[in-house]
Amino acid sequence: MKIYADNAATTRVSQSALNAMLPYFTEEYGNPSSLHTVGQRANEAMTSARERVAACLNCKPSEIYFTGGGSEADNQAIISAAYFGARKGKKHLISTAFEHHAVLHTLKKLEKEGFTVDLLDVHENGIVTPEQVAAAITDDTALVTIMYANNEIGSIQPIKEIGAVCREKGVIFHTDAVQAAGHLHIDVQDQHIDMLSMAGHKFHGPKGVGVLYCKNGIPLVNVIEGGAQERGKRGGTENIPGIMGLAQALEDACATIDENAARLIPLRDKLIAGLEEIPHSILNGDRVHRLPGNVNFCFEGIEGESMLLLLDDKGICASSGSACTSGSLDPSHVLLAIGRVHDIAHGSLRLSIGEDITEEQIDYLIKSVKEVVEYLRSMSPFWRDLENGTRKHII
Ligand SMILES: *Cc1c(COP(=O)(O)O)cnc(C)c1O
Repeated sequence: MKIYADNAATTRVSQSALNAMLPYFTEEYGNPSSLHTVGQRANEAMTSARERVAACLNCKPSEIYFTGGGSEADNQAIISAAYFGARKGKKHLISTAFEHHAVLHTLKKLEKEGFTVDLLDVHENGIVTPEQVAAAITDDTALVTIMYANNEIGSIQPIKEIGAVCREKGVIFHTDAVQAAGHLHIDVQDQHIDMLSMAGHKFHGPKGVGVLYCKNGIPLVNVIEGGAQERGKRGGTENIPGIMGLAQALEDACATIDENAARLIPLRDKLIAGLEEIPHSILNGDRVHRLPGNVNFCFEGIEGESMLLLLDDKGICASSGSACTSGSLDPSHVLLAIGRVHDIAHGSLRLSIGEDITEEQIDYLIKSVKEVVEYLRSMSPFWRDLENGTRKHII
């Protein structure tokens, strides 16, 4: 059996998104900045894509900027809000310890430029509360940036409540919604969101194209200097096929959020229940406020990388931590942020299932993970120490 359970890293481009893209490679290949008919047709297509994306978020088309992906949108949002604040003498930025590196590394860079950054602690269930945000805001705060849903442990944040706190205190609120867009309902007006990032490839659109929503009145700073594209805020000829694919994928995903969740959540919970039968295992992230496709566990006495290789042999694509940290030997900063100790954090497994998963595949996932954990433990001197009492179990 072959199972792709790494949809949080990236998703397959849907047939519908691909169909929406294809004409813009070969027939409608104009540059939207060109004044001739072919160029203007590309420009019209982009205008309609912008309107469709805006409709999915409940904002104005003039508040939608196309970017080169989720990371770029995060960079541009955070840098813009920080510099806007600095003009008024506000140089304090608030975020959390378990953001994506696109956010954390941008904040690090701003710290070197003289901004102060507060990273809020995350509760063990992977959630940050509006009360924490309210307590952290000062007269100097320029920006609060908190992710909508975590890419590793799937926990969904109380975005509307956090937005309300920021709105009341007059602080700009940005959310990295890369994992949420197309999977959860988003309404930037109702949820008091000022800036939001998303990426096409996390909801069955293409890679290398993203969206930054920026509420009118917040001035954007260019991260890519160049021509007058994107109303002068992002230089470079627009990725028209990518933009058309993203708009189609987002529209499709937003139209099926409820039906996908209704199908996925029971399967996700069956997978969770199955893996919880493994002794000395612990679920990471909240049970209820959780992305419909996310399962994340730590298994004591296991090394995540070995688990991934053995699962790969069984036809299962999974991940430990995020795609961005795998490859490094450091344990996931997300798991450390929710209080998992190093030894435990090293034994993590993320299964991010897609809408097309079947019950049979869920059964196979449970069986395979059980076998792999048992096998690795049977070979591990560390596990022997735990079993004979030389070392104490943590979970
Ligand atoms: C994938 C991801 C990103 C980065 O998006 P890219 O399009 O790969 O640059 C940022 N934030 C989160 C939460 C993500 O999951």
